[in-house]
Amino acid sequence: MAAGDSTEQIDADVLIVGLGAMGAAVAFHASRMGLTVIGIDMHEPPHSFGSTKAETRITRLAVGEGPQYLPFVRRSHEIWRELESETGVELLHQCGGIIITEQIPTPGQRWEDFVVETARVAATADIDYDVLSPGDVRAAHPWIIVPDERNAGFEPTAGLVMAENALRVQLDLAARSGARLRTNEMVTSITPSDDAVVVTTDKGSYRASNVVLATGPWFAELASPAHAAMVEVTRQVVYWFEVDELDAFTTSSIPFVMWIAERDEDYIGLFPMPPGGTPAVKILGEQFLQTTDPHGVDRSVTQAEIDTFYNTHVAPKFTGITRKCVRAEVCLYTNTRDDHFLIDSDPRSDRITVMSPCSGHGFKHSTALGEAVAQTLASGSSDLDLTPFASRSWPSGYDA
Ligand SMILES: Cc1cc2nc3c(=O)[nH]c(=O)nc-3n(C[C@H](O)[C@H](O)[C@H](O)COP(=O)(O)OP(=O)(O)OC[C@H]3O[C@@H](n4cnc5c(N)ncnc54)[C@H](O)[C@@H]3O)c2cc1C
Repeated sequence: MAAGDSTEQIDADVLIVGLGAMGAAVAFHASRMGLTVIGIDMHEPPHSFGSTKAETRITRLAVGEGPQYLPFVRRSHEIWRELESETGVELLHQCGGIIITEQIPTPGQRWEDFVVETARVAATADIDYDVLSPGDVRAAHPWIIVPDERNAGFEPTAGLVMAENALRVQLDLAARSGARLRTNEMVTSITPSDDAVVVTTDKGSYRASNVVLATGPWFAELASPAHAAMVEVTRQVVYWFEVDELDAFTTSSIPFVMWIAERDEDYIGLFPMPPGGTPAVKILGEQFLQTTDPHGVDRSVTQAEIDTFYNTHVAPKFTGITRKCVRAEVCLYTNTRDDHFLIDSDPRSDRITVMSPCSGHGFKHSTALGEAVAQTLASGSSDLDLTPFASRSWPSGYDA
C-alpha cells in the first residue's frame, strides 16, 4: 500500500516515533536483528529543527557524568568504527579532548568536579587520561588562555562524532535491512492495548507490538504526563567563528575543549573543524535558565547575541579566533531535572519505551543505546545495563 493511504494498517515488531540520533540507532539495530521495523519522522532527518545537527558531537570514553555511561560510549566507538568499515563514511575523529574546570568547584554546579570525576572513571576503566596543570595546557596549546587555579585533563581517545553522517548511515542501513522509514509524517497519538499499540499519524494508522518514543525536544507531546513533567527543553546556540589559520584548528591539529566555569551558563565547548566541515571553529555555550519548546523557540541568532558570546566567552579564552561568525544555529537540549538519561517503559504500557531525554550529552552513547533497546525488544534483555536510566525520584530540592 502506498505511504499516505489513510486506511493503512501495518503490523510491525517495533514502530519508532522520531528518527533523530536515538530513533535512527534503534531502527538500524532492530532491523539488523531481524525485527520488522517502521520508523516515522515528521521531518526529513537529518534536519535542523531538533537536537541532531551542527556537524559534530563530542565523545569521551572517560565519562565524568558517571560510570554507568562508560559501557555505552565504549560500545558506540566500536559501532562507529564498524559502520565506517562497512560504508566508507568517516564518523569518528579521535582528536583527543581537554577538559578545564575551576579548581574549587561551585557547589550545586551541573558537573561540579568534572576533571576529578573524569579521572576517576578513567582510572577504574584503564582509559588513558592525563591530569594537567594550567602550565601544561599553556605549553602544549598556547592558543588556550587558561589561567592558574584551574584543573585540566586530557583524554587522547576522546574526539568528535559526525552527527548527521552517523544518522544518515544508520537510516540507510536500516532501510537496506527492510525497515520501512516514513518521513514528513507526524504521529498524533499512541494508544496501547493488551496485544499491541496503535499509532495514529496525520496520514494513517499503524499497529505495532512495541513502540519506541524517541521524539527529542517534542517528547512531552506524546509522553505520559508523568514523564512529560520530568523534562525541560532549552534553547542553545552554536557558533562557527573564522580563524586566523584554518590548519591550526582542525581535528588533525587540536583536541576539543570543554571549559566548565563557575556558573553553568559560562560553560563553553570548542570543536575543531572536521574534514569537510564548515571552514571555521565551532564554539557553543549552554544555558538552563530559560526553557522553551520546539514550536515557540526563537531560531534566529542576532548579531548582538554573537558579539556578546564572542566578547564574553571566546576572546578571553582563546587566541587565533576572529570575531567573524560565519554560521550560527539554534539547537535544542531536552534535559531531565537531574541531567541524567530517561530510558524506560512508559507508565501507560510496557509496550512503549521512551528514550529521548538524553540531556545534552546523549549523542556519544546513542548507537549503543539503540542497540540495547533493540536487544530488549528482540529478546527481553540487553548486553548493556539500561536500568540506571529508568524513571527515578528526584533528589530533594527538585520540584518535578
Ligand atoms: C547544541 C547541542 C550540543 C550537543 N553536544 C553534544 C555533544 O557534544 N556530545 C553528545 O554526546 N551529545 C551532545 N548533544 C546531545 C545530543 O545531540 C542529543 O542527545 C541527541 O542528538 C538527541 O537525539 P534525539 O533522537 O533524542 O532527538 P532529535 O534528534 O531531536 O530527534 C527527534 C526526532 O523526532 C521527530 N519527531 C518529534 N515528534 C514527532 C512526531 N509527533 N511525529 C513524528 N516525528 C516526530 C523529530 O522530527 C526529530 O527528527 C548536544 C545537543 C545539542 C542541542
